[in-house]
Amino acid sequence: MKEMYDAIVVGGGPAGVISAYTLARFGKKVVLLDKKKHDQIGNKTCGDALDYSSVLMLNQAFDLELPHGDEVSDVLDKLTVATELGALSIEAPGYTVDRHVFGQRLLRECEKYGVEVIDSAPVRDVIIENNFVVGVKYKKGGEDNEVRGKVVIDCSGTWAAVRRSLPEGFSEGLVKELPDHHIAASYREIITLEEDHPFPQEIYLYYDRDIPSPGYIWYFTKGKKRLNVGTGWLKSDNSQINGSMKQIFKHAMHKIYDPESYMLDVTGGGQIPIRPPFDCLTFNGGMVVGDAGCMVDPTTAEGHGPALMGGYYAGLIASEALDKGDVSREGLWGYNEMVMAHFGARHAMSYVVLKHLRKLGPKNIGRLINREFLTQEELTKIFMGHELRLSFAAIMKKLIKIFPFYNIPLIMRHMINQVLVIRDHYLSYPSNPDLLPEWRRKRDELLGESL
Ligand SMILES: Cc1cc2nc3c(=O)[nH]c(=O)nc-3n(C[C@H](O)[C@H](O)[C@H](O)COP(=O)(O)OP(=O)(O)OC[C@H]3O[C@@H](n4cnc5c(N)ncnc54)[C@H](O)[C@@H]3O)c2cc1C
Repeated sequence: MKEMYDAIVVGGGPAGVISAYTLARFGKKVVLLDKKKHDQIGNKTCGDALDYSSVLMLNQAFDLELPHGDEVSDVLDKLTVATELGALSIEAPGYTVDRHVFGQRLLRECEKYGVEVIDSAPVRDVIIENNFVVGVKYKKGGEDNEVRGKVVIDCSGTWAAVRRSLPEGFSEGLVKELPDHHIAASYREIITLEEDHPFPQEIYLYYDRDIPSPGYIWYFTKGKKRLNVGTGWLKSDNSQINGSMKQIFKHAMHKIYDPESYMLDVTGGGQIPIRPPFDCLTFNGGMVVGDAGCMVDPTTAEGHGPALMGGYYAGLIASEALDKGDVSREGLWGYNEMVMAHFGARHAMSYVVLKHLRKLGPKNIGRLINREFLTQEELTKIFMGHELRLSFAAIMKKLIKIFPFYNIPLIMRHMINQVLVIRDHYLSYPSNPDLLPEWRRKRDELLGESL
């Protein structure tokens, strides 16, 4: 007789470990499968930035220790957006972390609370009975295996092993395959410099004219002489680009850093989902979390924190649903509501910003910064989705500043309006699943795009 788990978590990245940990803390019997070897779980090509709010939430919920010691490469306090014409910063507390060391600690925390880990176990398919997912099929040591559980949580990253194995249309609002315009390809290097770098406690996004819009080069501090540097752009833009991503990255980076002035420690690349979270993250017998559910901020590509928070929300709701004995798409619905009310709304706003940055391009973004069209306070308000009320005199002053590029304020005005409308729409995400089709129709209309 095969063992029956309360929950099967597929993937041991931040989404997976926190989903599993949360369920285990509520006394549930959990198994976590990862295709990586046990000692490699958590290791991932990343920019390594992690926002403070997500780890604080876990610390407050479970007393889970904040990143510390070897887990932290540097502490952050601001995010800067820059072009060759100037730079503008906003507060952004957080860390750059060693993903591997931090990820391994979270895995140990899971095991401490009884989560069983099956490593080197790529999940290949789902088991569906009576229209419910009831387990997964995986390989281990060349053999076919299966495991059964009451709820299956897909935390397997952008390539979403469970989600992509579901039948087409299994849950309305949960997309099976992402189109290329909703995926960013990326490349990054970790380098050690001869001199101290000029980005202390900072994540620095540099909009370079050689990087396809709205792509940028990021410079994230990993200590005084160490940087995580990378770039990325939508896969759908690849056809218009001459040269490989690595060549374009090197060309842009070497405008700032002479290749002789640093040592290359690590290189890598990856795929990042770029859209707001799926409109429905639940299905009969399961949920999707983290990159598998598209929980990455579309402008900054930060997905580590949302994956941790998503894991917490998924664990909470799955635990409640297990207690009630209803793990249907509707029984798990509270998870959709929690995500949309929190970073779902923020990411939808960020998606609107991204679309408008794309329209502006690096030259106009440079003009905005150089001519101080927006103050730091105004920029923060837009990023946070707060209303920006300007007096007639303030508007006139801005128009004079941007003369003669009047298309820029028009695009900006449209962006600010659309950010607010989309925020409100996500904050009114339906608590009744029957209302989802109408909510989606209206969102597509407001966004001017069918997601
Ligand atoms: C180049 C790059 C830079 C980034 N920079 C940042 C940044 O600076 N800050 C930030 O917040 N975010 C950043 N991100 C995004 C961030 O890395 C992800 O959003 C985050 O790791 C998502 O966590 P996750 O748990 O959903 O997925 P992942 O971290 O991808 O973990 C998925 C896990 O599932 C396992 N898995 C996959 N397939 C299977 C399968 N079939 N069977 C079993 N297991 C499987 C994998 O081995 C892995 O352990 C970056 C991403 C990239 C690619």
